[in-house]
Amino acid sequence: MSLEGYKEKRMVNSFELGPIRPPSEAYSLLIRVTMNCPWNRCEFCHTYKGQKFRLRSVAEIKQDIKTARVIQDEIKELAQESGYGGGVKEAAAVVFNSPPNQAYQNVALWLYAGGENVFLQDANSLIMRTNELAEVIRFLKKTFPSIKRVTSYARSKTAAKKKPEELDELRRAGLSRLHIGLESGYDPLLQYMDKGVTAAEHIKGGRNVVASGISLCEYVVLGLGGKKMWREHAIQTARVLNEIDPDFIRVRTLVINSKMPLYDEMENGNFVRATDEEIIAEERLLIEHLDCHSNYVSDHITNLLQEIEGKLPQDKETMMASIDRFQSLSPQERTNFRIGRRVGIYSRLDDLYDLPKHEAVEQVIHRLSQGSNEVDEEKIYTLMEGFI
Ligand code: SF4
Repeated sequence: MSLEGYKEKRMVNSFELGPIRPPSEAYSLLIRVTMNCPWNRCEFCHTYKGQKFRLRSVAEIKQDIKTARVIQDEIKELAQESGYGGGVKEAAAVVFNSPPNQAYQNVALWLYAGGENVFLQDANSLIMRTNELAEVIRFLKKTFPSIKRVTSYARSKTAAKKKPEELDELRRAGLSRLHIGLESGYDPLLQYMDKGVTAAEHIKGGRNVVASGISLCEYVVLGLGGKKMWREHAIQTARVLNEIDPDFIRVRTLVINSKMPLYDEMENGNFVRATDEEIIAEERLLIEHLDCHSNYVSDHITNLLQEIEGKLPQDKETMMASIDRFQSLSPQERTNFRIGRRVGIYSRLDDLYDLPKHEAVEQVIHRLSQGSNEVDEEKIYTLMEGFI
């Protein structure tokens, strides 16, 4: 098929796509196995609010997988026939830059990255009947023999109810990893946020996944305890993580927008947000109390210090040293760093010593503070809202 032929076929094929995937699945093929969130009540989450949860039939999902295959074949045909010398990557880049629809864009990006990883959307794929989810994964792997990794989101509560043989069936079908939103291990906070799960259920669900041999990634929300519960949030979250000992601990930082129920709690004064500096103290306490063998990953743009990463327990001291380094900066330099991160000029602490970048941040501070050099916390929160 020529490029012209490809353009003529625009809008012919499409499949369902959900709104989110983890940062680590940015280049994955996205297959939507359920729609929205069956719980949908968490105070700090806006992703599926107003959307009704729905299971999808195996036939519907298989049809989407077949369509993704058709799109893949079209892109490969384009690579053969359009002077890209058979280079799938080049053809995928052309389609990605001028996609007929989001489905083409997703398949093109996936092929560009090697076509190996798949992420099953939406919020809790484990809620499907085990045999149906296993059938979908087997069909996926048969349709795309290039697939090496299949991952999905799940809720602890659902994982806690799965029998070992069910998780084993999913692992054998090809489910490689589950991403679970732990958020916190502190019961009063889980309750306040209406997470619909207890610390004990988090432990049970997480342990079930670990025991099955499916890789487990637990997400923690830094700042979720606000000014009131930050200490217990850090200590109890570490305790729960230690009990689970997941393969990955991923942190992201709380950002509140008006689509979240938590926004009203904040407006009426019941929830008081912690500042960046308080959240860094909380993260230090969390890491200090971690006694597990997980990979600690900070790959979310909302995190102030994305360089706090490493394998536990051996990298713990280095991770804490990065926090100490930030905390030992002068107040002016801490502000400079925070603003630099929030406007996307800095990515790590060393960037403070890049003079053109430092100067650019100083100019932003001058503008935001209208010359006073004191930037209001609200302005920093507003900058962060752009991240979600
Ligand atoms: S379970 Fe996950 S997706 Fe559902 S409302 Fe809570 S945070 Fe959002």
